[in-house]
Amino acid sequence: MKKANGYEIITLFEQWSPKRYAEDWDPVGLHIGQLNRQVEKVLITLDVNEAVVDEAIEKGANLIIAHHPPIFRPMKNIWTDTPQGRLVEKCIKHDISVYAAHTNLDVAPGGVNDLLASRLKLKNIEVMEPTISDSLYKLAVFCPVEHADELREVLARSGAGAIGDYAGCSFSSTGTGRFTPSAGADPFIGEIGKMEEVTEERIEVVLPGPLRSKVLKAMLSAHPYEEPAYDFFVLDQRTEEFGLGRVGALQEAMELKEFAQFIKGALDVPAVRIVGDASKLVRKVAVLGGSGSKYIRAAKRKGADVFVTGDMDFHSAQEAELMDLAIVDPGHHVEKVMIEGVARHMEQACTEKGYEVSFIKSEIDTEPFRFI
Ligand SMILES: [Zn+2]
Repeated sequence: MKKANGYEIITLFEQWSPKRYAEDWDPVGLHIGQLNRQVEKVLITLDVNEAVVDEAIEKGANLIIAHHPPIFRPMKNIWTDTPQGRLVEKCIKHDISVYAAHTNLDVAPGGVNDLLASRLKLKNIEVMEPTISDSLYKLAVFCPVEHADELREVLARSGAGAIGDYAGCSFSSTGTGRFTPSAGADPFIGEIGKMEEVTEERIEVVLPGPLRSKVLKAMLSAHPYEEPAYDFFVLDQRTEEFGLGRVGALQEAMELKEFAQFIKGALDVPAVRIVGDASKLVRKVAVLGGSGSKYIRAAKRKGADVFVTGDMDFHSAQEAELMDLAIVDPGHHVEKVMIEGVARHMEQACTEKGYEVSFIKSEIDTEPFRFI
């Protein structure tokens, strides 16, 4: 096991939930402090308030990963007699850094929306509103047949060749490579000034654009040749689409009133608001963590019978009613599922890397609403 700094931990986090998945308006990333110091404990929270910072201090965590950005609108000043100014002051005084992953964590496979869909035990889950896809590349690399297995393994480990649920996909064909080492060369095979013929494999793998430099680096470091021959092609296809919200089917249809009770239990909330006929049968469910008012049409387009989302406003609720889309609003705070999900994902990622760091789940209840 080895110590890690904040930068190394966040690099692992962003391999899962990259900032490019975030909406344009969303201020994700490091908000307070710095990442260039050792971190042994990370506190995971939905929101950052003073009680959460006190919890971090008490538990010895010097990095907080939050879902909701603590500095959402630009601050023009830091007055330490205001709640927000005091929060920044307290973090800095105690060397606590705060990092926010908001809509990028909603979009990330296995992030907030997938966590909610899995709580609802949905089947055949799809993205509700696609927001981003990556360009796709093909790498073709030529290597002596005896080294092809090792090179294929290195390429797979670097993330190349992932297609849908399949990892390490590649295609090989065998042929003859020819080269003449010139003066100054230090050839792995052959002699200076003599034409060499080698039986080589051409290994082809696809990879998403953002992995290009990582895969290239891995290939060059594993290839036995001094000057490996390779081609990168831009493909016409793109990667699968990532996006906000999820749509899936319940195991079996149920009445809206029964579904509302199910949601209370599945998402651990004391009450929900519903829109629609309580006896309507629902089977196809759309779910979006946070505020989903502006996504009712996307839910309807995807054929959902019911849309589970928070912060539903009056006019959007009326519009949903008119389009026969039932709504179950369990509130915004159900996004707290991210605490468990992020801790689990990051514990595993850090264990694989051999980082000695623990992830603490915040126990502060940041839900502002009470039901009476
Ligand atoms: Zn939210």
